[in-house]
Amino acid sequence: MRVLIIEDDPAIAANLYDFLEERGHVVDAAADGVTGLHLAVTGDFDAIVLDLGLPGMDGASLCRKLRDEARNDTPVLMLTARDTLEDKLEGFARGADDYVVKPFALKEVEARLVALGKRRAGKVAQRELAAGDLTLDPRTLAVRFRGNDVRLPPKCLRLLETLMAEPERVFSRKELETAVWGDTQGTSDTLRSHMYVLRRELVQAGGYDPIETLHGIGYRLASRGAA
Ligand code: CA
Repeated sequence: MRVLIIEDDPAIAANLYDFLEERGHVVDAAADGVTGLHLAVTGDFDAIVLDLGLPGMDGASLCRKLRDEARNDTPVLMLTARDTLEDKLEGFARGADDYVVKPFALKEVEARLVALGKRRAGKVAQRELAAGDLTLDPRTLAVRFRGNDVRLPPKCLRLLETLMAEPERVFSRKELETAVWGDTQGTSDTLRSHMYVLRRELVQAGGYDPIETLHGIGYRLASRGAA
């Protein structure tokens, strides 16, 4: 993971930095709120460890600016020295995702960071795909075309998912074979027969075929619905 530590206590910052780096994470650090916010907005981090009490700008204000002004949703693990309910509530109200109370175990911080990173990756992967009149929910594998359910065999589903990930993009046969069957197993015949089933089911559900064949090149999924 790429982790940003924003902490003004040099000993705590150094401990966290060394521990996380030793565990294979890529770590950056800031010792005040203004530098921290700048790094958080300009860098590409998987998670941020944020101290509540900081010079320049306190952790709660930094978190609020990160969310409300910079529209940045990097997970934030808040560090707080004062174990009072009020502080915790303040941290969460301003957009922190989790917190640990000082003094903390380094392993616990890492475990919470990994959990935050996974939760975020899961959210990204589970976003519903949509192209024209088609929707596909990667969580439930439910496909709807013009509002009607489409029932597809697993390989056809994978084929549609690949096309839907980038509507309007031309996919070569080879690319689709690799995406659905892996490097070795697919043949043009299996792709053709699965494409046939996929299109037949789509036409049955929605009344038209949203997939275009580019002869000798490959296939493309329309990003626009029926007029
Ligand atoms: Ca502090």
